[in-house]
Amino acid sequence: MAEPDFYLSDEQRELQRALREFVSKEIAPIAAECDRQERYPVDLFPRLGGLGYLGLGFPEELGGSGGSNLDYAILCEELAYGSGGIALGVYVHMALACAAIHAFASEELQKEWLPAALRGERIGAWAFAEAGAGSDAGSIATRAVADGDEYVLDGSKLFITNGPIADFLIVVASTAPEQRIKGLSLFLVERDRPGFKVATSLSKLGVRASEMAELVFESCRVPAANLVGRLHRGFLDSLATLTLGRIASSAFAIGVARAAYEATLAHAGARVQFGQPIGGFQAVRFGIADMAVQIEAARLLCHRAAIAADRGLPHSREASMAKLHATETCTRIVERALHFHGASGFMSDSPIQRYYRDCKVFELGEGSSELQRNMIARELGL
Ligand SMILES: Cc1cc2nc3c(=O)[nH]c(=O)nc-3n(C[C@H](O)[C@H](O)[C@H](O)COP(=O)(O)OP(=O)(O)OC[C@H]3O[C@@H](n4cnc5c(N)ncnc54)[C@H](O)[C@@H]3O)c2cc1C
Repeated sequence: MAEPDFYLSDEQRELQRALREFVSKEIAPIAAECDRQERYPVDLFPRLGGLGYLGLGFPEELGGSGGSNLDYAILCEELAYGSGGIALGVYVHMALACAAIHAFASEELQKEWLPAALRGERIGAWAFAEAGAGSDAGSIATRAVADGDEYVLDGSKLFITNGPIADFLIVVASTAPEQRIKGLSLFLVERDRPGFKVATSLSKLGVRASEMAELVFESCRVPAANLVGRLHRGFLDSLATLTLGRIASSAFAIGVARAAYEATLAHAGARVQFGQPIGGFQAVRFGIADMAVQIEAARLLCHRAAIAADRGLPHSREASMAKLHATETCTRIVERALHFHGASGFMSDSPIQRYYRDCKVFELGEGSSELQRNMIARELGL
């Protein structure tokens, strides 16, 4: 039987092998504790940076490690296999904060921030959502008003991953409110800027190893040079970056689903009821067979989108399909995994209950399932 991912290159297989070793030694052992304490293991950033993982997909001259979107999808799946929360913190740093700097910031900002960020010495966050603006970016109320050679930011941001630990934020603010989504710009805000503060750390149901906060900007002045990308167009331009975020989200979902599936396969072989392993009962066997098929199908969609992006082909529809399918599949698989574990999966010390709490967020972030269906329908001409 061929390996399910026989199309990976030797280098990608080696990347996958090395990541699996790293995750089993460095992430899996701390995942439950970080989840319980709602604490991000910030020391991981320089370790991941030192091994070149944070630099995947970024050019070597800016401190990156090169590599492709497919490499990046492999990284996301493996990190999420170890901990959805830890993976989320890395993702926001790499795929949103650093990717926005790389794609749109001036050469000076790139040189100042990217090498250290890709070494994991500075942590980034992406500050988009607000109390009144989630799916609807056009409702963003945080304002950035030009004043000489500065911009003055006022407003607040909600649900910001890495908010409590970030050294810098990419803030989406309105520079032309009447234009709604066409009047949004991106700004790099350093943590120590006067007028910026972390208002509250937020506690959540899942991905608890990632830290989240509400952020406030009160007459927070940033140099005009901190504008990232085009004035009024920064957010629209960044949607291309967010396309890759959808590929990453699908890979995260696959990682969590795979962890739940593997645990269930092992459990089904070991747990004996009515004188036989429960994996001998057809209902359980079929359920686990379905999990294996669904994970491989989801991975193929994810990798197809990544390969299309690597080849410079249109990949927006592919990324939406991958994200929609993988995230909904993950939720279904994790629910079945909990079911087949019986009461043991329901206990606080079981990783299954953590996967159960972690999986739902992938359907919400990076554009909820409904938004993905809308985008796919639009691409289909509806
Ligand atoms: C764990 C976690 C981490 C996060 N990290 C960050 C972060 O780092 N930075 C950041 O900026 N934000 C972050 N967010 C917030 C995230 O961006 C929002 O949750 C997301 O944009 C959805 O917005 P909302 O939660 O306000 O939901 P809403 O937009 O209020 O949606 C609620 C429901 O309405 C549905 N809905 C909305 N519009 C439509 C429509 N047009 N058609 C059909 N259905 C619709 C949605 O699908 C959803 O089911 C995070 C959220 C979570 C849970």
